[in-house]
Amino acid sequence: MAYRMLGKLAYGSRYEEVPWSQRVYVRPGERLIREAQWRLLLRRAPVMTLADYERRRERGEIEEFLSCMMCGESRQQPLFEPSGDKGWRYHVVRCPACGFLYRNPNVRPERLGDLYATGYSSFLTGKYAANRQRRYDLTMQAFAPVFDEGKERRLLDFGSGVGLFLELAEQRGFDAYGVDLSPESVAQANERLSRARTYLGAPLDVPDIAAGGFDVITLWSVLAHLPRPLEDFERFRSLLAPGGVLLILTVNARSLLLKAYGSKWSGFTKNHLMFYSARTVRTLLRRTGFAGVAFAPHYGDTIEAGTTKLPAGLAARLRRNVELSDGGNMMRVLAFADEEAIGRYGGGPLTVHRLNG
Ligand SMILES: [Zn+2]
Repeated sequence: MAYRMLGKLAYGSRYEEVPWSQRVYVRPGERLIREAQWRLLLRRAPVMTLADYERRRERGEIEEFLSCMMCGESRQQPLFEPSGDKGWRYHVVRCPACGFLYRNPNVRPERLGDLYATGYSSFLTGKYAANRQRRYDLTMQAFAPVFDEGKERRLLDFGSGVGLFLELAEQRGFDAYGVDLSPESVAQANERLSRARTYLGAPLDVPDIAAGGFDVITLWSVLAHLPRPLEDFERFRSLLAPGGVLLILTVNARSLLLKAYGSKWSGFTKNHLMFYSARTVRTLLRRTGFAGVAFAPHYGDTIEAGTTKLPAGLAARLRRNVELSDGGNMMRVLAFADEEAIGRYGGGPLTVHRLNG
């Protein structure tokens, strides 16, 4: 109660209407304070060799120690120790060379199935489902015209879960496919869908998918779960047709929320393995043969959907701070396979950054 009164006094009577996760972006001066704290944290946290780091940490049976997958740097800067209910806990390090954040020790790829064994699909339904589909719609809007017309276009949703996105894709006319690691999710998805189909396993295990020629590949909240991102992205690049695009939605490792909440950041969930920023996602795309990339800042789902209406002053401050702090708490990325794709979809409100050279 006291906090609410203080908030109103300090930030105006409409402050309470700002969704919780957007508040750090509208409080006056907060961005500068959090960024100063972040720089201080990075100056103070020790950097050590991988061998020293390994001596200090226990490694679980399904885990392995890693160097930075984006740039090859082996030194480690331990920063965070997220934990949650049911006793999960892991360590997050920062690469002192390129700034990549990753869990270390990480999960061995062949043991990834252990994370999704049972109960994951029930997490993906219910109230979560409606919010998810709204988020997909808003992101498709941000990257119009890529998703406007699906007719006679092939789409692959990698990590398709219970088929919430594939349902929207088939409604838009896409010839849509999905793959996922959870058997329950795949079964539920195929019940939900009428034309689109999802499969258990890796893309190359399914002949219809291994044939490639996709106009669009989507990774909705999947990137942070990949233990071998370079291999996966090389495969995605080869599955794309000329002129194809890849869409990524993932938590943003340079968001102001991470700087404010540290180990308690909402992006540090139980099954997340690696945490990307605009910088490190570019490295990933450049190294795997993509020609260009565009970003769409994320201002918050309810604000973009218009169900939360902010006074002009707060809305302007939110926009400014999201843009100055690397795009918001979620990162929305469109990767272009080649020049043809850039020619087809670049321009308009989208700024395309070329990756070659
Ligand atoms: Zn690195």
